[in-house]
Amino acid sequence: MSMLPAAVTGPRRLLKRVRDVMAGPGTAEERLGKIVTIIAADMVAEVCSVYVMRAGEVLELFATCGLAAEAVHLTRLRVGEGIVGDVAAHARPLNLRDAQSHPNFAYRPETGEEIYHSMIGVPVLRGGRIIGVLAVQNRTERLYTDDEQEALENVAMVLAEMVAGGELVSRDELVQTDGIALLPLRLSGARLAPGIGKGIAVLHEPRIVIDRMVAEDPDEELARLREAMHGLQSHLDKMLEAVEGINHGAGEEPGDILEAYRMIAQDTGWLNRITEAVHTGLTAEAAVQKVHDDTRARMAQITDPYLRERLHDLEDLANRLLQHLSGQFQSPAFGDLPDEIILVARNIGPAELLDYDHTRLRGLALEEGSHTSHVAIVARALDIPVLGGVKGVLDRVETGDPLIVDADNAQLFVRPGEDVRAVIEGALLARAERKMLYAQMRDLPARTTDDVDISLNVNAGLLIDVPHVAESGADGIGLYRTEIPFMVRSAMPDIEDQTKLYNRIFEQAEGRPVVFRTLDVGGDKLLPYWQDMVEENPAMGWRSIRITLDRPAVLIHQLRALIRAAHDRDLYVMFPMIAEVAEFDAAKALLDRQLAREAERGFVPRRVDVGAMLEVPALFWQAQALLERVDFLSVGTNDLLQFMFAADRGNPRLEGRYDTLSPGVFAFMRQLVLLCDEKKVRLTICGEMAGRPLEAMALIGLGIRRLSMAPASVGPVKEMVRSMGAGSVQDYVLTLMNSPARTLRSRLKAFAIDHGVKL
Ligand code: PEP
Ligand code: MG
Repeated sequence: MSMLPAAVTGPRRLLKRVRDVMAGPGTAEERLGKIVTIIAADMVAEVCSVYVMRAGEVLELFATCGLAAEAVHLTRLRVGEGIVGDVAAHARPLNLRDAQSHPNFAYRPETGEEIYHSMIGVPVLRGGRIIGVLAVQNRTERLYTDDEQEALENVAMVLAEMVAGGELVSRDELVQTDGIALLPLRLSGARLAPGIGKGIAVLHEPRIVIDRMVAEDPDEELARLREAMHGLQSHLDKMLEAVEGINHGAGEEPGDILEAYRMIAQDTGWLNRITEAVHTGLTAEAAVQKVHDDTRARMAQITDPYLRERLHDLEDLANRLLQHLSGQFQSPAFGDLPDEIILVARNIGPAELLDYDHTRLRGLALEEGSHTSHVAIVARALDIPVLGGVKGVLDRVETGDPLIVDADNAQLFVRPGEDVRAVIEGALLARAERKMLYAQMRDLPARTTDDVDISLNVNAGLLIDVPHVAESGADGIGLYRTEIPFMVRSAMPDIEDQTKLYNRIFEQAEGRPVVFRTLDVGGDKLLPYWQDMVEENPAMGWRSIRITLDRPAVLIHQLRALIRAAHDRDLYVMFPMIAEVAEFDAAKALLDRQLAREAERGFVPRRVDVGAMLEVPALFWQAQALLERVDFLSVGTNDLLQFMFAADRGNPRLEGRYDTLSPGVFAFMRQLVLLCDEKKVRLTICGEMAGRPLEAMALIGLGIRRLSMAPASVGPVKEMVRSMGAGSVQDYVLTLMNSPARTLRSRLKAFAIDHGVKL
């Protein structure tokens, strides 16, 4: 027997009666009619009405006790119009002593409501979305008590189930609603990985659907709540322990976040509010949901980024608590999924992304995420378009919503209309046709019209990238970013793990050369277990070869693993971010020592070529000494250009300020080509620039013969190569070298068009 104070038995009785009517006989409208009568009687109110949201931002009167019966289905208010519209627009209750003196009051003669003064309206919410309004009115001027408001909100929660059930308005119409904003919606974000994708929304952390709202026995619900809280706490403790175990220092980010979670979870205010809601007759799940909806509605107005961040934390936590209550834990990746998925998440780790069947993933929309976030790097490798920083996406998208990610134009279309769909279908079709065309060219050589062969290679970083080498028709892997396998793990892989991984890469490359770049972390590429590197200016900080020379054990392990995997094979090793010849010498000496050591153990590569990445301008001024030492050189234009122009490659304000196709860059490249030709050192360009057809044309004009790019770029670049004459482009490019212009882009484009070069 529960020992509850008498005051709370009232609301609980009301809730049960509403629930019984809902489960009873009659059509949905008849039952709704009975419910408003019960509420009015229980609250000693003259009026109780239910408005349901219909397509087109309209709230329609569906049932009333007290207003004129003729007004049902006749009275309609837009969101924002009248008191009812105001409640919907802000998704929060409005409790008014005299509704008629409220500036938003909208008088509707058909209702006969002029005689009523006080009014309280509460939103009917489902999954954080407004789907209706429940209102009560009285003749006298009075303010409704907190208990009355609470009781109405509870009833509204139960009603939400009925409205969402599809009997009152069709589900299709409900799917159209989008909280405060309705119908098709366009959200903007930032392009993290290019492309366009169309599919059905899958929330990576789906909202739990609650099917039991009204409790039979509050004590039992409280016990369930306690058990779930206990489960949540120990889950958080375990996560915290795991993070502590793999981090180097104290106070790192993931730990901080979890610590904040733990504090909220232990916050008695939060728990008390949930417990109170259980006392009013809700199930534990419904109580968590209700407290969460309240918080969300209250915080929706807040713009402070820190507080909004905390709201997200609460959202996550409420969802986790619901998972514990319902026992639904599994990632949707393992459930039944649509054939074409657009995954929506606050943020997601690369490993979690790879839990999904990547052949079905058409796009990714993230509330957070940055260009260099691990997931973006992985998604780019998989050719999946990604939008990041899509503010509000989690509040506005539901599982099942049709979505289009247009990463190229930094937009997310939610429930797109016919017009947008038609445009996107066209763009997708054109892309598919081009892909077919590229596939047909796969076995054709990347040879210019004047018979100059260009070596096209791919940049890779995951095992799943490697089969793309053959598919794309590339000659080999020009840049294997070994840090990516390090980034997707929770702990540093040991020599054995690395050896296995490199072995598989060799196997999958089927004899094509693979250039392994040693660990290039720091700056923007942090390892989850190495996050103690807070720096003022990380791009110019302790990163890449600087780290691995300072902590040689890491590099030594990697080199041993590479040598073992390369036994009887050709090994190409490349050191990143070399700023001076001495750094190359130090790294090469380490390699030589490991080669000698491993040879004693029987691991002997057939051939060993050692190269450096040219990413720091200073190295260029030591070119003579450098070229005597290296077997090959690869220019990382992403980093090189940011240092040449002193312009952060991730700063949106500088986007487009300096052009890669500029006379300064050309002069640099041309001199480098001449120096490498003289010393017979192979030269490759492996930055983003190499994968864009116009840029690739210019580079070939400057004398470059090897390019390495994302697998998806091989087709377009090959098509361009096969349509250009290396000689004529070179003649033209050389005339531009002394131009004072800031960009040569438009002239090169005009040249390409005039000469039939396919861009
Ligand atoms: C570059 O800097 O151009 C490069 C290829 O390396 P990353 O993009 O991995 O820094
Ligand atoms: Mg780089």
